[in-house]
Amino acid sequence: MGRTALVTGGNRGIGLEACRRLAKAGLRVVLTARDAERGEEASEALREGGLDVFFEQLDVADGGSVEACARRLSEGGTEVDVLVNNAGVYPAEGVFSVDEETFERAMNINTLGPFRTCRAFVPAMVRRGYGRVVNVSSGGGSFGEGIGPVAYGASKAALNALTVKVAEAVRGDVKANAMCPGWVRTEMGGQGAPRSPAEAADALLWLATLPPDGPNGGFFRDRRPIPW
Ligand code: NAP
Repeated sequence: MGRTALVTGGNRGIGLEACRRLAKAGLRVVLTARDAERGEEASEALREGGLDVFFEQLDVADGGSVEACARRLSEGGTEVDVLVNNAGVYPAEGVFSVDEETFERAMNINTLGPFRTCRAFVPAMVRRGYGRVVNVSSGGGSFGEGIGPVAYGASKAALNALTVKVAEAVRGDVKANAMCPGWVRTEMGGQGAPRSPAEAADALLWLATLPPDGPNGGFFRDRRPIPW
């Protein structure tokens, strides 16, 4: 039976490209977005291209929204085999200029969001004996490469820590890895970024479809390990 992937923040940028690539690779894709209109529009465009994509509303900042999405999918008979935690925000302020609300928002979306979706979808993967989790992190969350702006850097470093803990907790053919997509031309990355979303999606697709002997609990860019 074909696999199903769920992507957060699938309406634009790297998330939208991930949906396209996963669907082209033969997976059924649940494109999720916090805004129903933008999400429906994005999934409709992919369906018009002949891809097996459908939309579900999911705001990763809201635990109730994550639970409701998981319930709707489960009641509709959809099992999520691949979870791509892509939704994110990039507050660029420095340590003495960022306000507490902005810092909290980054933690809520970039760290607690994936925490919520992992808890909603990964236990069922473990019960079924198969699953792939791809946490879209950043070199800005790496102590080895240099932490980025404080709220973003802390939230992505914490996402890396979450990745390690999920990877330790899974059993069977279930894997959780983090990746940095590089600097990508999206609303977040800006038009001066050197990489296309398609280039970024390559490593994402690789982690989403790893074979049973693939890595678990790693941090990658361009399919190669990078320091935590
Ligand atoms: P983007 O173009 O700004 O897109 C961000 C996506 O996240 C949008 O779909 C946005 O939805 C969604 N989102 C934000 N808050 C959300 C929430 N509460 N619930 C659900 N979705 C939410 O950014 P991108 O460049 O594609 O980035 C995707 C991921 O790659 C992020 O995790 C980012 O940190 C990471 N990354 C990007 C770069 C880069 O250079 N671009 C580099 C390193 C890492 P709306 O349209 O509703 O706002």
